Formats: sequence, structure tokens, C-alpha cells
Amino acid sequence: MKDTHKHKGMRNNLAEIVAAKGVTDKKVLEAIKTIPRHLFLDSGFEDHAYQDKAFPIGADQTISQPYTVAFQSELLEVKPNAKILEIGTGSGYQTAVLLHLRAKVYTIERQLELFKTTRLFFNKMHYRPKKMIFGDGYKGLPEEAPFDGIIVTAGAPEVPRPLLSQLKVGGRLVIPVGVDEQIMTLFERKSEKEFEKKEFGSFRFVPLLEDKN
Ligand code: SAH
Repeated sequence: MKDTHKHKGMRNNLAEIVAAKGVTDKKVLEAIKTIPRHLFLDSGFEDHAYQDKAFPIGADQTISQPYTVAFQSELLEVKPNAKILEIGTGSGYQTAVLLHLRAKVYTIERQLELFKTTRLFFNKMHYRPKKMIFGDGYKGLPEEAPFDGIIVTAGAPEVPRPLLSQLKVGGRLVIPVGVDEQIMTLFERKSEKEFEKKEFGSFRFVPLLEDKN
């Protein structure tokens, strides 16, 4: 598959839709205009790529809705060179947005097939996260902590404690919390012991699964 003027036009349109829903961060909207989302889907589903919808990517998982990706990215307030941990690599689209925002990205995926497919795709596209990890994001990534930001792209029944403890003071955790439906939740670490919590609208994600072994 190629990236053409037609795709570029559809992306500009998608960015307008996302902006109309309330996303104002120019860099995030620029990322939507730039990243060829159709290449993150299996060929044949190209027509779906620039609608503001989630879409199946195999292994019972979905690529998040563009608005959701944009909203979470905006809440994360990514600064250039920020060290960001992403839980739930999936198709890699959110990862690509973070890279576009010039973050140093560490991303974890627990589905082996998706992990492998996305790793190959990233090599082909020359997308360069700092690390792609196959494993359970519930535990975070203690060996690389602390992080300026942590973003969870699956619905968490509860907030994994390790993620809060792996934030820098001043760092932000953006996580959808809930079982059937999730409330987008932002935790800002104010000091070693204090976190400020803010809640935003409701969303629907595939579940964040904990590996019990
Ligand atoms: N950011 C992705 C979202 C994919 S859906 C995208 O836009 O494509 C959420 C992903 O989280 C799925 O790929 C799922 O396998 C993964 N996931 C669920 N629980 C996880 C866990 N405990 N650790 C890491 N990844 C997890």
C-alpha cells in the first residue's frame, strides 16, 4: 500500500473532525494529519482508516478511535524528548503519534502475534521507539522508570499501582478506568506521595489483562 494525496486529504479531514470534537493541541492534530493510519490496518480495510472509528486489528484487539488517541495524547502533554511508557502497543498507531511528538517511547504489548507484526511494521516504516517489549504492562517497566508520562491504551479495571510509582514528580498517567465502560482518568504526581486525579468523559476500550504468572 502507498500513501497518496488522496490519503493526505482524508487525514486533513479526519484532523478537522477530531478538532471539532474538542482537541486543540496543534502538535497532536499535526500528527493526525501526518501519520498514514491506513498503513496500520490490513490492506482491504483502507476505506475505514480515515473514519473516526476504532477498528479490529486481529487477536481480538482494536486500533483505538483517532479521537481517543488524540484526546489521550493531549492529556499526556508530551514535551520533546519526554520519556513515555505506553501500555498496549497494538497496531502501533498511538506509538507513532507519540514518536511524532518527539517522545522517547517505551511500549509494551502482551499479545505475541501483534507484538511481532507491529515490530516488523515499525522496522519497515523506520519508526523508532526506544524499546518494544513483549510482556505484561500491569507491572510497568521498573528498569526504565521514572517516566515523564505513562499512557494506557486498554481499559483498566483498576489503576495498577506500579504505574503510579513509576512516574516522575510532575509526571502524568493517562488511563481509562472501568470494566464495561471506562472513565478517562489523569493522575498528576505532585510530590513523592501526592497525586492529583482528574476525570474526563467515558470511553470504550478492550480490557487491560493481567498476566497472573
Ligand atoms: N494503542 C493501540 C491500542 C490497541 S488495543 C492502537 O491504537 O492500536 C489495546 C492493546 O493493549 C491490545 O493490543 C492488547 O493486547 C494490549 N494489552 C492488554 N492488556 C495488556 C497488558 N497487561 N500489557 C500490555 N498490553 C496489554
